[in-house]
Amino acid sequence: MTKTVSVGKLDVGDPYIVVMAGPCSVESRSHTMEMMHLTKEAGADVYRAGAFKPRTNAGEFDGLKEKGLKYLAEAREMYGLPVITEIMSRDDIPMFQEHAIDIYQVGARNAQNFDLLHALGGLKVSVLLKRGGGNKVKEWIGASGHVTSRGNENVILCERGIATIDPEFRNLADITAVAYAKKYSDLPVAFDPSHGTGRRDMVYSASMASVSAGADAVLIEVHDDPAVALTDGKQCILPKELGILVKHARELRRFYIDAHQEYRSRMRGVTSGRVTVYFLESELPKILQYLGLDEKDTKLKPYKVGHRVIQARIKDGQFSRLKQHHGYAVGKLCSFMSRSTREEVPIVSVRRLGDPTTIMTPYSAEAVHEADKKTLDERNPSMRRMELKRRYPTDIVLDAFETYTSPLVLYTVE
Ligand code: PEP
Ligand code: MN
Repeated sequence: MTKTVSVGKLDVGDPYIVVMAGPCSVESRSHTMEMMHLTKEAGADVYRAGAFKPRTNAGEFDGLKEKGLKYLAEAREMYGLPVITEIMSRDDIPMFQEHAIDIYQVGARNAQNFDLLHALGGLKVSVLLKRGGGNKVKEWIGASGHVTSRGNENVILCERGIATIDPEFRNLADITAVAYAKKYSDLPVAFDPSHGTGRRDMVYSASMASVSAGADAVLIEVHDDPAVALTDGKQCILPKELGILVKHARELRRFYIDAHQEYRSRMRGVTSGRVTVYFLESELPKILQYLGLDEKDTKLKPYKVGHRVIQARIKDGQFSRLKQHHGYAVGKLCSFMSRSTREEVPIVSVRRLGDPTTIMTPYSAEAVHEADKKTLDERNPSMRRMELKRRYPTDIVLDAFETYTSPLVLYTVE
């Protein structure tokens, strides 16, 4: 479930896609007024423009700084769009607070500036965290934890392209990173097609691709006269182009929301995730026979030699050479256990990222009762379920083997 981050009257992460648009830099007071007017007319929800600009070379235009923040606040007063602008140092926080900046953008160059992230983690402001140009998805999502774990959950992740070998593009827009972040983090995800490609002729297509991948917001550079833009003119689209992009992004978003919901409900428990099954070596022949497998067909490995526990993985819809959906394989294992050794063999099912209320369920309550054992969570009354869920799976598996005579443990990651 995606959390939402409030920005003015909107919630980023809702089915309504949030469009943030504006020039790369705050250029002047009058330009800011004009551009907020134009982007609002084109359908934007949030106005973007940098007052503090990180530049590769010293001496280049690096933003109007506090004056820029003031112009943003003035334009907001006039036209009513919330504003997003980049913060480069924790020292500037009071200035941002004074001008009530709506979203604090942490740029690609500061994506792992932990000092800045920790400072933002201590506030309640909304933060848009870009992925660093050389960051792996896990580093990017990991960086967000430096804000959220300090108490500020209002973080929007933003993919903006990573370093590429291809000189035709400024960066490689990593669309799958959007889908990945949607699946493996609970934060809303934005996409920046402007820095992601570096070319205005790619902004429309990259935006549509990101909406199809699940982006909850897009961050787009727009300029009324890109040829004279102070920064990033090459990747700025015109307000007129923004209008059609916004229209199509909203239509595509509606389709995405419905399609994704249908996809998820059809796929539930079928193809996604990974199941690892742990069982006693002595059970192996029976299990193999039931599944119609030969030992050499399986990817079995000893889990804990002393216990003679076998670990088998069912991954990506396959159990070894059996072309089965994992849900089907699990079902088959369950029915195997119920037919043959139901009384003696409780199945302990450990689910992660699934329904938090089903962390583990003994397959057969009877079996638990007969073995005069409690379920694993009953044995750990002091431990809240969520804490139990976070325990390293090895603990849970070993616990199961100590508790039951001959358990079958399913460890499911969805
Ligand atoms: C920007 O948004 O103008 C910017 C500098 O972006 P990034 O940090 O992604 O390069
Ligand atoms: Mn820019």
